[in-house]
Amino acid sequence: MKGLSLTLILFFLLGTTGTKAQEIIAHRGYWKTEGSTQNSIASLKKANEINVYGSEVDIWLSSDGVPVVNHDADVTLDGKKLIVEETPYATLRKVKLSNGEPLPTVEEYLDTFKDCKNIKLIIEFKTHTSKDNEDELARKVINMVNDRGLQNRVEYISFGINFVQQVKRLAPEAPVYYLNGDLTPQILKKMGLTGLDYSRNVIKKNPQWVAEAHDLGLKVNVWTVNTPEDIDRMIELKVDYITTDEPLLVREKLSK
Ligand code: MG
Repeated sequence: MKGLSLTLILFFLLGTTGTKAQEIIAHRGYWKTEGSTQNSIASLKKANEINVYGSEVDIWLSSDGVPVVNHDADVTLDGKKLIVEETPYATLRKVKLSNGEPLPTVEEYLDTFKDCKNIKLIIEFKTHTSKDNEDELARKVINMVNDRGLQNRVEYISFGINFVQQVKRLAPEAPVYYLNGDLTPQILKKMGLTGLDYSRNVIKKNPQWVAEAHDLGLKVNVWTVNTPEDIDRMIELKVDYITTDEPLLVREKLSK
């Protein structure tokens, strides 16, 4: 009996602390495919279709306080560059993505995501020009996530210290990762973050951070891992999440 329970305990321990599957996050959605483009509603649906761990998306606040989806600080409309933070939503809405979709709002994105049940949504708060804008965006988006009951399926990332602190304050249970690459795992642990989400170059320069983070109970995500060599290196380093524009290539390599 004693022998059996010991065997069971050992089995359980090995099962939980043994090699953990490495997961794939589609960077700006799955966009390198027909009918899709970065940060589009289509890229979110297509990430769901290929059944990866998560789909990443970049968000901003318009000048009149509407959370919108876009990567850059500016958009181009009729050949003119417009700063997202300085442009009202009605104007931003006229911007067409290369697949013909209008520039999405975060509300539309979340409404679509509700039915994308295979994946998590990884929301990147882009660094804004003022703390007020950042606080307003964090508050509005976290409320939208809560209103839809999506708390357990959304994770947050940011280059901005203010944003990761706002997430900790407004959604203490939500996973939150820091992107900027300049803080050690020890500091991130003290800040109460879930982990680090650093560029492949930072991780290649500081490979010991992966094991250090794991020893502290932190997770490690790496972006943007696209080449076969980089994918192999990150698999070898046992990072938890690989953020990539090539989710199918990463999957193929992980399956080997
Ligand atoms: Mg991003």
